[in-house]
Amino acid sequence: MNTNNSLLKIYNAQIVTPTRIIKNGTVIVRGKFIESVTEGDLEVVGATEIDANNQFIGPGLIDLQINGFMGVDFSDQNLSIVDMRKVTLALWKAGVTTYLPTVITNSHKNLKKSFQLLTLAIDNEEIGLSIPGFHLEGPYISPLEGFRGAHLAKYIRKPEWDEFSELQKAAFDKIILITVAPEVEGALSFISKCSESGIVVSLGHHNGSSEIIKNAVVAGASMATHLGNGCANMINRFENPLWPQLANEGITASLIADGYHLTQEQLQCFYKMKGLEKTVLVSDTLDLAGLPHGEYTRHERQVVLSEVVKFPAENCLAGAASPLNTCVSNMMKLTGSSLENAIQMASTNPARLLGLNNIGELIQGKRADMILFAIKDGEMVVQKTIVAGKIVYSN
Ligand SMILES: [Zn+2]
Repeated sequence: MNTNNSLLKIYNAQIVTPTRIIKNGTVIVRGKFIESVTEGDLEVVGATEIDANNQFIGPGLIDLQINGFMGVDFSDQNLSIVDMRKVTLALWKAGVTTYLPTVITNSHKNLKKSFQLLTLAIDNEEIGLSIPGFHLEGPYISPLEGFRGAHLAKYIRKPEWDEFSELQKAAFDKIILITVAPEVEGALSFISKCSESGIVVSLGHHNGSSEIIKNAVVAGASMATHLGNGCANMINRFENPLWPQLANEGITASLIADGYHLTQEQLQCFYKMKGLEKTVLVSDTLDLAGLPHGEYTRHERQVVLSEVVKFPAENCLAGAASPLNTCVSNMMKLTGSSLENAIQMASTNPARLLGLNNIGELIQGKRADMILFAIKDGEMVVQKTIVAGKIVYSN
């Protein structure tokens, strides 16, 4: 299917582009790349043809924050390529064609091991194209209760460039996104160094002041990690990290639009403030996501998995469990955003933010990472997923 010159024609489709939806459109794929996106039908000799039956075709979804899926935790010290394959196949089914496995705060030894294990997937012929790099969330974050969220206090520390460089070496330079707290000692110079090295820096799990957040953006930070989460319940109504991150135009906010991590009004306000161009959707799923709903024991604690993961005793959130296609559906339902805008926030924007220039849009010359899907009762239902011109999922 994706040998150098093979041709694939998908016709009778509603093609989702950032600016509009092309009705009755045709996408031609040659080898791994998009050759054309046009209105109407086209005669293409020798092409494998797929009738989209007037369903939608859009760019594959891109998830910048995912801790695990289908029972696989990317921080697992015994992570195998079999585990990575299991996650990737399940994500393809959910319409996610690119994702950044996300590793959270841990000891240096364990982080190093995690990246050594994760790199096995990068060169894998089958799944490697879906994993352009990794997201390191922590360990240089706020140690304060509430701001650190579920990150273990004992492993939280101050930024150390040499230590980070060792992790980056173990990851074969594939840590392409890092979440840090800007107010921690040494963070601003660390942010500058990351930024100079081409790593995208996101502010998260922090209690940075207005001035520190401004300085972090000057130093090169360009994103806020899951805005509204990783924040204490009780904050000052004047001085808190939310306002400056919302107000600063240099910051793109990632949002967990699972319907649980933010209220509908938070989601609406954050989206209105940051606008279409500076909003990115992330799933932030835990390892339990994708498994049957029910009770599980996780790190010796009882949790209940439904559309979200909760600690039943406290009835509080323990983590996210909705893959990105569900977040796209929720964004439309909860904010009234259009389909093309919701897809932009879950594909085009993350690609642009991370400089993944070959994906994120259905236009000529981009890699053919696409999803064929229907919208049923407001839900995005993925029917086919294509990565680099190859059909990797079909229902
Ligand atoms: Zn987090």
